[in-house]
Amino acid sequence: MLSVKGSRVVPSSKPTLICTVWMTKLYKPESFRAHMKSIWKTRKKFEIQMVGQNLFLISFELADDLELILEGRPWFFRNNVILFDRLCQAVDRDQIRLTSSPYWMKIDSISPKFDKKDLMHAIGATFGGILRSEINEDSCRLRVNFDVQRPLRRGIFVSTSAVSKVWVPFKYENLPMFCFGCGRLGHGLSNCTQLTHERISKINENPPYSLALKAESKLFGKESIKFNAWIKKVGAQCLYTGGEKAAQISTVEVAGDNNEMGGHRNVGNCWEERR
Ligand SMILES: [Zn+2]
Repeated sequence: MLSVKGSRVVPSSKPTLICTVWMTKLYKPESFRAHMKSIWKTRKKFEIQMVGQNLFLISFELADDLELILEGRPWFFRNNVILFDRLCQAVDRDQIRLTSSPYWMKIDSISPKFDKKDLMHAIGATFGGILRSEINEDSCRLRVNFDVQRPLRRGIFVSTSAVSKVWVPFKYENLPMFCFGCGRLGHGLSNCTQLTHERISKINENPPYSLALKAESKLFGKESIKFNAWIKKVGAQCLYTGGEKAAQISTVEVAGDNNEMGGHRNVGNCWEERR
């Protein structure tokens, strides 16, 4: 039984999550269900109902199980991130907005000239705030809410009154599939619809995004990229962005680090990341 009345999605009486997979390819709902059942070890049962293309309700017997699942984010299906939200009341399907997930980022090799706490605060502010942070001797971890509609950010320029503009690179833990061309999650370069074929062939040699963005990944050189697949049709997958059109980008700048923002506080003088 689907909890769908026309375009309305109605939660069950149990603690309920709504979720979608941020990917452009089509997949079989049964394989999603089987995958989640295989990776989640909950104390009590949970049910997965399909309520639209690429849209599921997950109802839990125990509220604690739901909380653990949210705490454990990000979760993945076929190397693509799953986006969740609580569903407490009926909602129109075209109003559903599933566009972000908490993520752990790692920042290492921090210049001793920076106060780590101030630096984390300044970086977190550019992500809309810090959900959690961990400051270690030689690195810092930062849990932020990551907007999957935006390209991955590769780092940020930071300066203080004592230090002139320093590039602080970002790394992301458990980074799923992303496009080396436009830096977005959910598709590979060969399926990129943000860039023209000409642009993709141009950036073949030196794509603006690389596996260097992965924390914990050993960089043995760039991932091999197959260009013969780009004629493949991208399936008409549904994404749930609350009726807003996903932000389009016209070009991806490989360099270009302008857009400086003023301010004369200590470490907080952050420059916009390069895109
Ligand atoms: Zn792309």
